[in-house]
Amino acid sequence: MVSARTSPLHFVPPTATDPRRALTDRIKALARQHGLAVTAITSADPFPDVAEHLDQHITHGHLTGLDWFTSERASFATDIRNLHEGAISILSVALPYWPGPTEKPDDGVARGRISRYAWGKDYHRVIKRRLTALQSAVEAELGRELDTRRLVDTARVVERAVAARAGLGWYGKHSNLIVPGHGSWVLLGELVLDLDLVPDAPLNRDCGRCAICIDRCPTGAIVAPYTVHAPSCISYLTIELREAIPPELRASMGDWVYGCDVCQEVCPYTGAAHRADDADLLPKSLNNAYPSLHWLLTMSQEDFGATYHGTAVPRAKRRGLARNAAVALGNIGTDADIPMLSAALAGHDEALVRGHAAWALCRLGTTGSRDALDRSLRCDPDPSVRAEARAARLSL
Ligand code: SF4
Ligand code: SF4
Repeated sequence: MVSARTSPLHFVPPTATDPRRALTDRIKALARQHGLAVTAITSADPFPDVAEHLDQHITHGHLTGLDWFTSERASFATDIRNLHEGAISILSVALPYWPGPTEKPDDGVARGRISRYAWGKDYHRVIKRRLTALQSAVEAELGRELDTRRLVDTARVVERAVAARAGLGWYGKHSNLIVPGHGSWVLLGELVLDLDLVPDAPLNRDCGRCAICIDRCPTGAIVAPYTVHAPSCISYLTIELREAIPPELRASMGDWVYGCDVCQEVCPYTGAAHRADDADLLPKSLNNAYPSLHWLLTMSQEDFGATYHGTAVPRAKRRGLARNAAVALGNIGTDADIPMLSAALAGHDEALVRGHAAWALCRLGTTGSRDALDRSLRCDPDPSVRAEARAARLSL
């Protein structure tokens, strides 16, 4: 029997006069007015496939070092109603941040690279502030308080799944979401709502035969389509890893000191990405985008705070950024950088940085390097630094 609900004779296409459709359209329009131009809606129903997918990744060690990715957390967060009981719909938002093609300045200064998403203000705060303003605007129109939750990275295990089911974008083989018109240069957030809104349909798209990002990843971290092995990914190594970077990966890290954009840069969809001139996401100085490696190696905690406060960069901490600068200088430096690296090896207050300076000196390999390494072997009080200096000396 065909029910009245499913009979084509009784199907009424949604129109702007349908109150549910009208409310959905109005919320998206308000989102645009509040700096959230790219939005889509999905229901708050669970995401059962995500927990299984994450379990497999955890089992194979692809998320090792990312302690927040646990099976328990995955299965909890894959039902948004565990986080917010009254959830009915989710507004998925994407903040585009592609600044257009940019080149590192050719100014004779050895410079590193910061991943573009971290150039401007911390996106967590930017998106949350805009979601808060949007919520207030919706409440003003409805004349009542909403029971909502604003999420940015909070339920990171389901964030991309929410966006994909909402049709905001689709998964690229580099495991980022690709959004039409913006490539993967988007930052995601969600507004969980107690409103019954019209969901959008998922996009039926994929990468086809393309595998450019897999081939071009400098460390081979994309071990299979849609599978990034985090312990080899430069993003993890430069931001999340607190200890020494595995020596065998250092030479592949190039000049990245915070994150890595390579798999996004090489993706053909980047060529079609619109330039996003969002003032909140633009760098306030050159050191927020292409920092001087010498400066990173000598910056005080005050310098670090003054330059990076309010951005995402403090996540790497001063010692992590200086460690990464030593590696980058080993990769792109010249003889002219030996004195700076020798000074870092002899006198940086962090043993982690001294150790990586030893590796960098070995990589640049000159008589000056040898002398600095010999001094370190004799004098450094930290056994981990002496071990790095010994390994470097043996390789010279
Ligand atoms: S961010 Fe860099 S290292 Fe990580 S998967 Fe992409 S290209 Fe590879
Ligand atoms: S580079 Fe190719 S395979 Fe990788 S995400 Fe882009 S389209 Fe997909």
